[in-house]
Amino acid sequence: MALAFTGAAAADYAGPIFDAHLHYNEEAFNGSEGPHPLPDVLARMQRNGVRAIVANSRPNEGTKSLAQAPQTRQAGVAVVPFVRLYRTRADYSNWFRDESIYDMVLAELARGTAAGPYRGLGEFHLYESANANGPVARKLMALAEERELAVLAHVDDAAIDLLMANTPSRGAKVRLIWAHTGIGGAPVGRVDKLLAKYPRLMGELSYRPGLTCEGGKLCPEWRQLLLKYPTRFLLGSDTWVNQRWLQYDDTMKGYRSWLGELPAEVQRRIAWENGASLFGLTRP
Ligand SMILES: [Zn+2]
Repeated sequence: MALAFTGAAAADYAGPIFDAHLHYNEEAFNGSEGPHPLPDVLARMQRNGVRAIVANSRPNEGTKSLAQAPQTRQAGVAVVPFVRLYRTRADYSNWFRDESIYDMVLAELARGTAAGPYRGLGEFHLYESANANGPVARKLMALAEERELAVLAHVDDAAIDLLMANTPSRGAKVRLIWAHTGIGGAPVGRVDKLLAKYPRLMGELSYRPGLTCEGGKLCPEWRQLLLKYPTRFLLGSDTWVNQRWLQYDDTMKGYRSWLGELPAEVQRRIAWENGASLFGLTRP
């Protein structure tokens, strides 16, 4: 019966995933005794086919422990370490003007991790776009471009322009990963313009308002945008609180489900290839 096929769900994406927005904050493991010690988080990644992560944490110890543990390699997870700008929660609202954060970043970069040098800065937050012009925000954006570090920024669309303007190339060269592609829900037309304007701007899709509609399916205008820019989007878990670790399976299942609606080549790019090629990883 031909009609039976029209309603058939596309198969979920089944390949490897690059988690481009992962935190391993101290409350997850508290030294080693927290609810999500290394074996727990690695098991979550492994059973979800996550084969590479952008790791960052408050403070940076979580990232370092992921980077150095033999279990991480045994789980088949490649770590792309980023320097988190926050030592404590108080740093969230002050990092862009706090010179001691800049010094901390330089010290971390000099030290590196067991998985190799840091590859990026962030995640950082700007709750007011104008703070993109804070003295330390300016210096960090220039540093990112000079040292070819990617940036993971939780900011609004206005701040994307301001941050880009603070790089020597005025945004032409820096790899900026826009966390949530704007958690405030910048209109799709605006996201489209920013992607066109900045060739190395990438959109990470966790928490993105308007991305999925009923039944977890892609909303039509987002589906179009993903098809227009298949090389510019990334997936992320954003494990910013412990609850997100509990939801890790569901987050990844949700991604695999809507990815299945896209052509196979686009699925593979968004899930794995875009992140892997940003950081020169080989296929697992
Ligand atoms: Zn985050």
